[in-house]
Amino acid sequence: MEKEEIKVAGQMKKRMAVLTSGGDAQGMNAAVRAIIRTGLDVGVEVYAIYEGYHGLVEGGEFIRKMTWESVGGILQRGGTIIGTARSEEFRTREGRLKAARNLIQNEIDNLIVIGGDGSLTGANIFRLEWIGLLTELVSQGLISPELAASHPNLIIAGLVGSIDNDFYGTDITIGADSALHRIVEAVDAISSTASSHQRSFVVKVMGRNCGYLALMGGLATGADWVLIPESPPAVDNWEEVMCERVKAGRKAGRRDTIVIIAEGARDRFGNYIGSSQVAEILEKCMGEEVRVTVLGHVQRGGAPSAFDRNLGTLLGHAAVELVLSSTPDLEPQVVGLRGNRITPTPLIECVEKTQEAAKAIENHEYDKAMDLRGSSFKEAFTTLKTMLRALPHPPQPGQKRLRLALVHSGMPAPGMNAAVRAAVRIGLDNGHIILGVENGLQGLIDGNIREMDWMSVNGWAPLGGSELGTNRKVPSGSDLYHIARNIENHEIHGLLIIGGWTGYETAYHMLQERRNYPAFNLPMVLLPASINNNLPGSELSVGADTALNNIVEAVDKIKQSAVALKRCFVVEVMGRKCGYLALMGGLASGAERVYIHEEGVTLRDLVDDVEHLNMGFRGGKRLGLMIRNEHANDVYNTAFMVSLFEEEGGGLYEVRQSILGYLQQGGNPSPFDRFQATRLATRCIDYLIKQVEQGSTACAFIGLQGHDIKFNDLEDFPRMSDLENLRPKVQWWMDLRHIAKVLAQPGPHEHGAT
Ligand code: ATP
Repeated sequence: MEKEEIKVAGQMKKRMAVLTSGGDAQGMNAAVRAIIRTGLDVGVEVYAIYEGYHGLVEGGEFIRKMTWESVGGILQRGGTIIGTARSEEFRTREGRLKAARNLIQNEIDNLIVIGGDGSLTGANIFRLEWIGLLTELVSQGLISPELAASHPNLIIAGLVGSIDNDFYGTDITIGADSALHRIVEAVDAISSTASSHQRSFVVKVMGRNCGYLALMGGLATGADWVLIPESPPAVDNWEEVMCERVKAGRKAGRRDTIVIIAEGARDRFGNYIGSSQVAEILEKCMGEEVRVTVLGHVQRGGAPSAFDRNLGTLLGHAAVELVLSSTPDLEPQVVGLRGNRITPTPLIECVEKTQEAAKAIENHEYDKAMDLRGSSFKEAFTTLKTMLRALPHPPQPGQKRLRLALVHSGMPAPGMNAAVRAAVRIGLDNGHIILGVENGLQGLIDGNIREMDWMSVNGWAPLGGSELGTNRKVPSGSDLYHIARNIENHEIHGLLIIGGWTGYETAYHMLQERRNYPAFNLPMVLLPASINNNLPGSELSVGADTALNNIVEAVDKIKQSAVALKRCFVVEVMGRKCGYLALMGGLASGAERVYIHEEGVTLRDLVDDVEHLNMGFRGGKRLGLMIRNEHANDVYNTAFMVSLFEEEGGGLYEVRQSILGYLQQGGNPSPFDRFQATRLATRCIDYLIKQVEQGSTACAFIGLQGHDIKFNDLEDFPRMSDLENLRPKVQWWMDLRHIAKVLAQPGPHEHGAT
């Protein structure tokens, strides 16, 4: 939606406030920044209420008018710069009467609350009482009847800021992804020392009643056992079952044991299970010392992940749109993310369903609790249970064992190893034989193919790069003949290609060549794994989230280097001709300008940009940040832009280039890339098994589309792709360009970047 399209319902509403309440969460600052700047951009006066409802009740200095600059440089900061507090007084009508007085005296009748279910419940009660509160204030002579009459309604909207991800109405809450980053970093670190000494660790994670952090943390790190509140061990002797499984894992070759326990974990009778209790049980059965690590508030700390910055930003922007277009008769909404789309859901429904899940656990109705968490949560738990087995289920008697091969294509993408690990284990657990092709498509040509066993992928989930090996080979000519021979020689029934564009091209080519090479009459499926996020049929490819985090972390550091001097940075990021990394990296780091190939770059654009830069630096700003995609324009390249800005800046500021290069592909995969890879690989293996069993030779590419994981017919690859520029024809994130522009635009105040 373009900026001008933000509709303001009824008469122009001039004043809006934002507060953060309950526990803090990383990404709240991004939401506060987006709310304030979006509001200012459409001409609304925006106030921040410091210290949550406590500040609302106290009023005075706690309610401050915000400017564009008040929220500069906060994207990378954890916590909430406007503070949060719990307020017992706001729970009382007396307290809310004071709060209403404070709001109306500032003529604020639009309120965006960022918090958990308690905070949003409080906001809704406040809204329902609004007229009554004003009437009382008038009757006490504390406000004039005219003032009350001019603000007859309080319009509210909610955003959920909580690391626990325990809220109905959004797939993920602001802060949960960053908390997972902290958990995964910690467990990866613990694993490396644990495996050196063959030790056991029990790691306790937050989440209150919700097992999301423990479950996803366990899936992403390859934990050996996970205890969550929604699905307690189904047996009375769970301690024995856990010990047997862990001991079997060691016997099978695992060098360490990591048990992740959610803080709300309990047995099926509702008795809480403590981390020390688990450690004692393990010590007894393993006969070795077991260490406990309680991660605690570390999970709430640190810089927000790229995802949380963008989530906070997009939800904040949408909340302003919603509040300003709302009318008093409309139910208040919580703005959340469902299937990668911003979606409002009625606040009351969200709060009720959230509390229902907590109650279901309390009442030992565990199936209901799992249902309320949603299908992805359940699917993840099922996959986890397979992943942590010591060995696979043996094949069924008389079962036909299929031979399924896995191969990579293109450059390494973080998360590829997690995909292979999941594909191998899911395939083996279903009784089939899994073949790993080494060195990518070249290996398929050369016949570099080996059988993978359960332990061959042990410890792969956290590894960056590609353990199987990959390259950018595009098979042609006689290569196809060799591939066909290898498929026949290894009696391959189905092929999973995990990688980027070259894999898609090759599979499509093989499909077209079926007449010449009958061996190609087998089902094939493509799993998108490329940091470029340039593959059709999938809104997010495996690896892109890690690359985005790498970019954002690098830019954070680059920005710090400009503290002493006036500097403008031109940062070049990868993506080939797809601008996803540039745009989302720009959004998450507060770049004032993003150059992408899809939009092109003209001389006129550059002249405008130079003028804005000069005006900004003359006005006192210290930092300029431009992010460009590596192929935004091959003539006006990074070096050209740097020289141009430097020359035209006339010494007002220094200009530096930073080409981030291969660091974007490196490092351990992010939590999201790990579980996205696991989820997609699981579905791909199921797909191949189903096709072979049905005698089908269908070929497909898988991907996340909206709320669902979908398979597209491989025949549709050219129709859905821009074959010249090697990217999908439709790119959902292009709709977000205007938000990046609005939030960091060098506007009338010449505020500039961040
Ligand atoms: P978190 O998930 O981080 O705990 P939360 O929003 O659920 O966040 P709470 O402590 O439940 O955290 O609520 C925060 C504040 O919201 C409370 O201190 C109180 O001021 C207000 N609040 C909560 N519940 C209500 C209610 N039923 N009526 C009025 N105000 C409430």
